[in-house]
Amino acid sequence: MDKDALKFIRKITARYRVDQAKKFRLKDVDPADTWKLDSKEDAERLLAQGVGMLNDLQEKLYAQDKWAVLLIFQAMDAAGKDGTIKHVMSGINPQGCQVYSFKAPSSEELNHDYLWRTSRCMPERGRIGIFNRSYYEETLVVRVHPDFLQSARLPGELITKDIWKHRFEDINGFERYLTHNGVLVRKFFLHVSKGEQKRRFLSRLEEPRKNWKFSLADAREREHWDEYQDAYEDMIRHTSTKHSPWFVVPADNKWFTRIAVAAAVIEALDSLKLAFPKVDEAKKKELSAAREALEKKH
Ligand code: ATP
Ligand code: MG
Repeated sequence: MDKDALKFIRKITARYRVDQAKKFRLKDVDPADTWKLDSKEDAERLLAQGVGMLNDLQEKLYAQDKWAVLLIFQAMDAAGKDGTIKHVMSGINPQGCQVYSFKAPSSEELNHDYLWRTSRCMPERGRIGIFNRSYYEETLVVRVHPDFLQSARLPGELITKDIWKHRFEDINGFERYLTHNGVLVRKFFLHVSKGEQKRRFLSRLEEPRKNWKFSLADAREREHWDEYQDAYEDMIRHTSTKHSPWFVVPADNKWFTRIAVAAAVIEALDSLKLAFPKVDEAKKKELSAAREALEKKH
């Protein structure tokens, strides 16, 4: 891979990765930050390059068929999860990629432990799995609205002040288990400001082609903004680990969010040292025999 490109990718990735989880504070990350980049045009060129790199890496991931990659996206409404997933993954062979969106759980899902529904959607080896929301909602929306614990029919004696701590521990354990099984986990919090969310909601109301995206429920959740920010911060502090880090990505400028996410995904794939499977002597013989046979026939 191009050395300069890789240097750039490593720098931008390190900037938004949460390495010292215990010291992490959400207010230290500016949602409007665009690092050194200031033009949307440059960003588009960079993203196109990044998408090309991702495509090459994904082909190797698929051919090698050993590692799996899980990318988790969490954010407040209108932070741009959908658009980021669409743009960053735009060059990837759809066969190598599996996207799942997790909404409010169904009654069948509520009949199980909370990791059940996501565990069924884990990426196969050789694939990139994308979770648009995830089991982390169990420490976010459920924490902001503890009534959801009642709908999950959790036995009363398990609902104690330690429940969130237990959830963080269990999630860390689960992600460690995935890591030990060859599933590389990377997590993204798209950090949008309250002002930018308001602008985006208003444009959903004003522009007819965006009307469908507006939901009154989203506007109502906005009233819990501070509680959500606290829940996100606590979640990141407890679950950003070396093997499964969070990236807190500025999300007030969509073009920048996409670059930062693409860079982190490229770096993650690059760290796997992927290569096309080696062709051994026996296989080489098989290939040359096949060529001969093909050339003989019309
Ligand atoms: P969009 O951009 O289309 O609005 P979205 O991800 O916000 O995408 P929604 O249809 O709004 O999709 O549904 C997501 C809702 O489901 C969110 O409000 C989220 O908090 C809720 N949800 C997800 N997981 C859970 C959970 N485990 N328990 C309760 N609510 C959940
Ligand atoms: Mg929504």
